[in-house]
Amino acid sequence: CGIVGYTGSDIAKNILVTGLKRMEYRGYDSSGVALEVGEGAAAHLDVIRRVGKVAGLESELSNIDSDATCGIGHTRWATHGKPSVVNAHPHTSCDGRIAIVHNGIIENFAELREELEGRGHHFKSETDTEVFAHLIEEAYAEAHDLMASVREACTHVVGAYGLAAVCADEPGVIAVARKDSPIVVGAGETGAYVASDVIALIDATRDVVVLEDGQFAKLTPAGVEYTDEAGNVIEPKVTHIDWDL
Ligand code: GLU
Repeated sequence: CGIVGYTGSDIAKNILVTGLKRMEYRGYDSSGVALEVGEGAAAHLDVIRRVGKVAGLESELSNIDSDATCGIGHTRWATHGKPSVVNAHPHTSCDGRIAIVHNGIIENFAELREELEGRGHHFKSETDTEVFAHLIEEAYAEAHDLMASVREACTHVVGAYGLAAVCADEPGVIAVARKDSPIVVGAGETGAYVASDVIALIDATRDVVVLEDGQFAKLTPAGVEYTDEAGNVIEPKVTHIDWDL
């Protein structure tokens, strides 16, 4: 239902929680974040999920001493699989090195899941979303490039998605994709932001890119690179937001 992501020089968890709270009005049943922690060989993803209000997630995060500067967050409105911690986003790859948040519905998830299970993938949730984490994991094993792996995964998926992915092996990178589900991207003074609703990022920037279907965005602390389905760099259309909350 609601997606937020940040990579830059600020503490990510505060930005993610603020963004998720801004999107609470849309309704949701659970929420969660994935934060990049540690460096080099010790780098990994910390995934924290809760059923119920974002305030519950916020209090759990306030007990965690996280100086992570990159992360993604989600409020879920369940479509496939009951509201529960296990079904809440972010969802992770088998090795836990990749985490994703997703809005929308993957129509061919049952077939994809069967195929992936046949190739040895173990599923942890009942969601349609989780196939995306495993598809990206498979592509990553070949490409060793998160953005390219997200692009490859999208070629297998039928349905609607707004998607943001992080990988412990590519610190500071958030890979974003969109089809029939809103995604906005922007860069502020201290980093780059993604959200499914512009309301979650107008504190940071008023010049945003409303991603179009089939466009991809690679966020890093230095800025954003936009590409098309073939991986060619494109010049995005920037929209200026001139209204206030
Ligand atoms: N279909 C996904 C799920 O049920 C995403 C729902 C959403 O957009 O929040 O987990």
